Amino acid sequence: MYMGPSDASPIFRVSNFHLKAEAPESYRTVLHCDANSFFVSCEIARRPEYAGKPVAVCGSEADRHGIVLAKNDIAKGYRVKTAETVWQARQKCPELVIVPPNYSLYAEMSEKMNDIFYEYTDRIEPFGVDESWLDVSCSAKLFGNGREIANRIRERIANELGITVSIGVSFNKVFAKLGSDLKKPNAISVIPPESFASIVWPLPVTALLFVGRSTAFALEELGVWTIGDLACCDDVSLEESLGKNGLMLKRFALGRDYAEVTPWKYSSEPKSVSNGMTFRYNLSTPEEVSFAVTYLSMSVAERLRRHSLCCKNVSVSVRTPDMKSFSRTVKLPHPSCLYSEISQAALALIKENTEPESEIYSVTVSAEKLTALNEFLFQQQIFGSAWESKYKKRHSLETTVDSIRSRYGRELIGIASQINNRLI
Ligand SMILES: [Mg+2]
Repeated sequence: MYMGPSDASPIFRVSNFHLKAEAPESYRTVLHCDANSFFVSCEIARRPEYAGKPVAVCGSEADRHGIVLAKNDIAKGYRVKTAETVWQARQKCPELVIVPPNYSLYAEMSEKMNDIFYEYTDRIEPFGVDESWLDVSCSAKLFGNGREIANRIRERIANELGITVSIGVSFNKVFAKLGSDLKKPNAISVIPPESFASIVWPLPVTALLFVGRSTAFALEELGVWTIGDLACCDDVSLEESLGKNGLMLKRFALGRDYAEVTPWKYSSEPKSVSNGMTFRYNLSTPEEVSFAVTYLSMSVAERLRRHSLCCKNVSVSVRTPDMKSFSRTVKLPHPSCLYSEISQAALALIKENTEPESEIYSVTVSAEKLTALNEFLFQQQIFGSAWESKYKKRHSLETTVDSIRSRYGRELIGIASQINNRLI
């Protein structure tokens, strides 16, 4: 039974006393951000026509992986379940929109979410592809308290990526994680240190991180059903039944989780960025080579800009239909993150190193020797040149294209020659 703060039970008072005695002077502010129906949300963000429909990401129906991998809330309303077969799901919901998994899209969205988190703190610990803990204790002066930061992040992810997150805000990781499950979707739940017991203790013990089915069963045997029961359970029975793990869970229930958000080595600075492709047909005309190289350079430049980097060198690797290959590198006249400049350098390299009539089987364009974009632009200010403003104009044009493409899909906007091109 849950014993609230007004309850005069001696066990409660003992727990409460210890809690107050051990409360640290200043509390940490920990966020746990969890994307709602992540895979399906990524698909809907790319294809707005799916919004409002029951959607499931499923393995291919043609092979035996034809099972539901993820579904949205609307599909859930039809009792569509993860891991059932596509056939079973269709029986329940004939109008179910079925899409194949696109893991590179999910990885890209995950990376973009982390890019947003990184603007508020460098203490980020990912927990799976769509969940992360953030310690924002030191960010209050810049961005506000935990709820305010959570709200900024929630809004930005919704506006910029078109997906929703639920965020738990608390003074430790366990309660932040629990908070992100309390309200969904697109919601924030705060579990403050002074009133956590009234929020957390009435909840079933299974709401606590690391309480799986078998642990819950063992706890039931001890008469522990709620997190409050666990907080008040005596140590001896807990240790007898669950060992050290039982004592750890009790500490969690009491709000004494002091584990740090492990600063994740954020890979914001890749060593090189490249994109290669084997095209449907061998490239045989200068127009086709130019199209291919421009197409690849666009994604390379986009990734550079996403990390605020530019490259000093550009290299190409080319394979011909007889499987001979070569790689060449050139130093750019100045560092760049513009596809126009990267593709120009790459095309010149290919032209210099191939016979005019030779066909190309595959091409890779790489940006190498990366450097921070701001540093580079700062250096240019010394010249105060017209060149700088031209570069900035071009840069803002290309970044605008990035944001349109990331919001509405890669297909919507591109180079004119990309339209109806038979090569991709
Ligand atoms: Mg999730």
